[in-house]
Amino acid sequence: MTPSKPLPAGPGVTPLGRRLLGRWWRRQSPARQDRFATLAPLVSVMLFLAAIISAFWYLRNEEIDREAEAVKRDTEIAQQQIRLRLIENQEQLVRMAREIVTRELEAPNFLAQAARFTADRPEILQLSWIGADRKVRARQSAFSERELPPPPKPAPTRFSSRSAQQAAAASAAEAAALAAAAASRPSEADWAFIAARDVRQPIYSRPFKDPAGTMVFELHVPLLDRGSFSGALVVEYSIDVLLRHFVPAEVTNRHAIAVIDERERVIASSVTPMPGPARAPALFNDVPLAPAANGLILRGSGYRTSVGLIGNTLFWMVVALSVLTVWMLLGTWRHMRRRSQIQGALVAETNFRRAMENSMLTGMRAMDLEGRVSYVNPAFCAMTGFTENELIGRLPPYPYWPHDRIEENSRLLQQELQGRSPAGGIEVKVMRKNGTLFDARMYVSPLVDARGHQTGWMTSMTNITEAKRIRDQLSASHERFTTVLEGLDAAVSVLSVQQGELLFANRSYRLWFGADARGHGLLASGAGPAVPFIAEPDDAVDGLSGLPTQELTSIGTNPREVYAHPLDKWFDVRSRYLQWTDGRLAQMLIATDITARRRAEEQASAQAEKAQVSSRLITMGEMASSVAHELNQPLTAITNYCSGMISRVKAETIQQGDLVAALEKTARQAERAGQIIHRIRAFVKKSEPQRQPAHAKDIVEDAVELASIELRRRNVAIHHYVAQRLPVLKCDPILVEQVLLNLLKNAAEAIDSAKLPAARRHIELRVIPRHTPEEGGVIEFSVTDMGPGLPEEVINRLYEAFFSTKAEGMGIGLSLCRSIVESHRGRIKAQNLYNGSSVAGCRFAFTLPVETSARHEETTLPPPPLNSRRTTVAPDADAPPAANTTP
Ligand code: ADP
Repeated sequence: MTPSKPLPAGPGVTPLGRRLLGRWWRRQSPARQDRFATLAPLVSVMLFLAAIISAFWYLRNEEIDREAEAVKRDTEIAQQQIRLRLIENQEQLVRMAREIVTRELEAPNFLAQAARFTADRPEILQLSWIGADRKVRARQSAFSERELPPPPKPAPTRFSSRSAQQAAAASAAEAAALAAAAASRPSEADWAFIAARDVRQPIYSRPFKDPAGTMVFELHVPLLDRGSFSGALVVEYSIDVLLRHFVPAEVTNRHAIAVIDERERVIASSVTPMPGPARAPALFNDVPLAPAANGLILRGSGYRTSVGLIGNTLFWMVVALSVLTVWMLLGTWRHMRRRSQIQGALVAETNFRRAMENSMLTGMRAMDLEGRVSYVNPAFCAMTGFTENELIGRLPPYPYWPHDRIEENSRLLQQELQGRSPAGGIEVKVMRKNGTLFDARMYVSPLVDARGHQTGWMTSMTNITEAKRIRDQLSASHERFTTVLEGLDAAVSVLSVQQGELLFANRSYRLWFGADARGHGLLASGAGPAVPFIAEPDDAVDGLSGLPTQELTSIGTNPREVYAHPLDKWFDVRSRYLQWTDGRLAQMLIATDITARRRAEEQASAQAEKAQVSSRLITMGEMASSVAHELNQPLTAITNYCSGMISRVKAETIQQGDLVAALEKTARQAERAGQIIHRIRAFVKKSEPQRQPAHAKDIVEDAVELASIELRRRNVAIHHYVAQRLPVLKCDPILVEQVLLNLLKNAAEAIDSAKLPAARRHIELRVIPRHTPEEGGVIEFSVTDMGPGLPEEVINRLYEAFFSTKAEGMGIGLSLCRSIVESHRGRIKAQNLYNGSSVAGCRFAFTLPVETSARHEETTLPPPPLNSRRTTVAPDADAPPAANTTP
């Protein structure tokens, strides 16, 4: 439907009217126009139907009027005819009555005249001359020449079926009956006779049945002899014959004429009455049967009993056709509405597709089966730089084919036209109008029309220059990535957690472990909670889906050192969980070969051990003169005892008892010297470092014993105090003893070199249990001297190796002390003691954890002091302390 088109105006519409109508029509909304366009035929059909109905109504009324008119006219004609006859007959009879009265006519003549009279008049059944006494003087019957009584003959009606003989036989009986009836009650004839006698005028009786059963009426013409009543002439009319003979045939042809009585009973009719109850005709005209005035009515009626609408076929056909038209119009309307809906949907779809086509970046080109371009979309034009007009209708070679590739493009086009293009599209080079080239991918699909015939090919084209660039970039970056991973010295492997399938392995991994997942398992088993999930067989559901991913991915990220036995290598393994590219949960391991570092560490720790031993030897070397002096005493004593004994034995002045005593003293001195040597040997003995439960008291006693050799020489006193019931230490006693000895020796040297007076020449060694928030329960060893203290610059460099303020000092004592203490998870600190503002000495203190908490302390390493040099602590808690790495 095109609602914008103006309504076609009829020929009768003036130009002005047409303009106004057109303007009005354009003002309407399309929906209203549609409604009007649909309703107008409906309304016109309704109007047509109304016009038809009113026309029919008018015509029917017209017809009824005309028919009524015709009936009236015909009835009046019939009435006229009958009246004329009756009047004529009445006049004849009146003349005949005068003749009788004037005696011009006697009975015999009367009969003759009556015979003539009746012979000419078939409607008259009989003519009688009745005296004033009601005696019949003479009678002339239409059926018999006999005078009295007239043989009853059947009325010559066409309805009588009785034979003459039967009628004659019946007549006698009926006459007797009539006589009897007349005797009992006055008949219609009696009433007429009486009326004629009284009013002295011819009187028509009311209708009645004569003895033959024929409906008749009588005319009584009074015989007035000079004013006196002397009888009457009675004529019996057959109503039926009257009707048949005096109603003209053309009247009866047109209309039914009947005689009815006052009670609407049909007495005679020009048509055979239909059986059943008489219905009042739709159209009739009643006139009195003048001049009879005896209640008889002449009724003329149309043959058609009904002129109602019901019977009017034509009318109903028109109605039916109108209804059909309306129905079809409604159907058309519905159809149109559906069509317009479909059209609307189609328009929307077309708009949608056009919008899609215009908005998309894919170029579209359609061509017919010969390769003639029939359509290009804006994207295609934008891509190639050619306008639609430049492309449509073009045959190959197309303007966007690069000049040097025309042959190749023709081959591709042929392939395309034959429908052999690959489904994955073809990559081509396309030339823009300005001559530049770009890469495009083309996809071809057949164009099929509404009847299913192929009409051509639709080609979509996408510019893949960018995609290609990105792809190249991606592959380059992938290459870089793999190069990096492949070139990595560390083994990188990714294992799917659920399937245990090796998803990725780099070159180093493959080199060390091959291409299977066993190496990953080996590394992971050493790396803490390696494969936390064991996939159940036939379990399609990811059993890990319920686990908190965050928790899982942070598990095992701590580096672990794993020894791979088959390779005889140490690896630093870092693992983390990640989501693989396909969404699977995977574990990635990065294993760095740290064998060299491990070896170095082992070497360093061996060297540290050696250093400790050497340090002890050095200490002993430093104490050598003291030791020599210490040994000198017992040796001198032994020499003295021996020389004394020899001289006394030679002089034979010695008693056996004295000799034994002197030998015992000698042996004790020798034992003492032996003890000193044994102690020194035990101290410097190269032994494997080992931790064991040890008592602070024993360590302190050994250390004091050794130190006192030096202290005595330097004239320094020592006081030591060890708290009661100390917990057991877990440490290497020799190393702790070495630390103590070092501190004591340093204190003594400081006091000695400062040449302090005797009052300040003493050292205090205290061992007490302590509890600190950072370290928990520990045992604190402190060495306090009253020496010169530590200058500011010395405090900062105290633990530096080879830092010494002494001319012959090695400067490794304190540095070694600190590494020993820290290897025992202890701490060492030095501080000056003040007396007012002046330094009154210094205090070195170190702590050692006790055995009960040792196991606990292992897991929570205290942070190293901030100003400390970096020391490598072996991850193994039982490993020996490492040597200083700083040169
Ligand atoms: P060395 O004893 O061979 O010099 P150490 O490492 O044992 O090496 O000592 C380093 C320095 O710390 C000493 O040279 C000295 O100056 C200082 N020092 C150590 N202990 C004391 C102390 N008790 N009083 C004063 N200075 C000290």
